Amino acid sequence: MKTIIFDVDDTLYDQAISFYRTFKKLVNENRTYEELDAIYRLSRKYSEQLFDQSEKGEITVFDWQTGRFIKALDDFNISISSNTAAEFHEAYKEEQARITLFPEIKELLSILKQQDKQLAVLTNGEEQHQTMKIKQLELAKWIPNENIFISGSHGIAKPNREIFDIVKDKLDCDPAETVYVGDSFEKDIIGAKKAGWQAIWMNHRKREIPNNSEFYPDIELQHAKDLLSYFTGH
Ligand SMILES: [Mg+2]
Repeated sequence: MKTIIFDVDDTLYDQAISFYRTFKKLVNENRTYEELDAIYRLSRKYSEQLFDQSEKGEITVFDWQTGRFIKALDDFNISISSNTAAEFHEAYKEEQARITLFPEIKELLSILKQQDKQLAVLTNGEEQHQTMKIKQLELAKWIPNENIFISGSHGIAKPNREIFDIVKDKLDCDPAETVYVGDSFEKDIIGAKKAGWQAIWMNHRKREIPNNSEFYPDIELQHAKDLLSYFTGH
C-alpha cells in the first residue's frame, strides 16, 4: 500500500473516555462499566443516524448534538432535558479537548512516515470541531495539512462516494494502492469499498456486520496494537 488514510474519531483515539467522564460529571446515576459502554455505543449509533438527518437539513445541528445523548440515555431509562443534553454536549466537547492518540497509533504513524507512505485523514464532522481534535492529537507531526479532509469543509460526508473521490483526486493516489482505516462499518468500510479502496475495519467495539451486507472489510482488527502489527509484520 502506498497511501494510508485514517478516520479520526474512535479510530485514532478512544472516544469513549470523553463520554465516560462527561457522564460521571453530569448524570447522577451509578452505572457499571458495561452499562456505560452500552450507553456510549448507543449514543454513537444515534449520532450517526442524526448526523445523516442534519446533513440532509431535516433536523438542526443542535438536534443532532443533543438528540444522540437524549435517545441513548432514554434507552437506559435515564431521562434528560434538552438543556441538560446541551450541557452534556458542551462538557463532552471540553473533554474532547483532552484526547490523546492510542500509543500504538502514534508508533504506527511514525513508522509509516519513515517509510515515506502517503498519509492522510478523512473525517466526518464540523470543520472547527474536527480541526480542534486534530490539533489536540498533534497529527501535524505525521500528516501534512493539505492531506487533512473534513466533511464539513466540503459539504459532503462519508459514506458518500463523492468525498472519497475528492480525497483521491487531491492526493492523486491509486485506489488499488490506497487503504482506509476506520471504525464505522456503515461510514468507513462501505464508503471506502464503494470507492474501490482497500478497507481495514478497526472494530474495537466488536460490532456485527449487518446481515446481507453488499460490502466487507478486507481486514478486520480489534485493537490498535493489531493495526500496528498488521503494518509492521511483528
Ligand atoms: Mg470514527
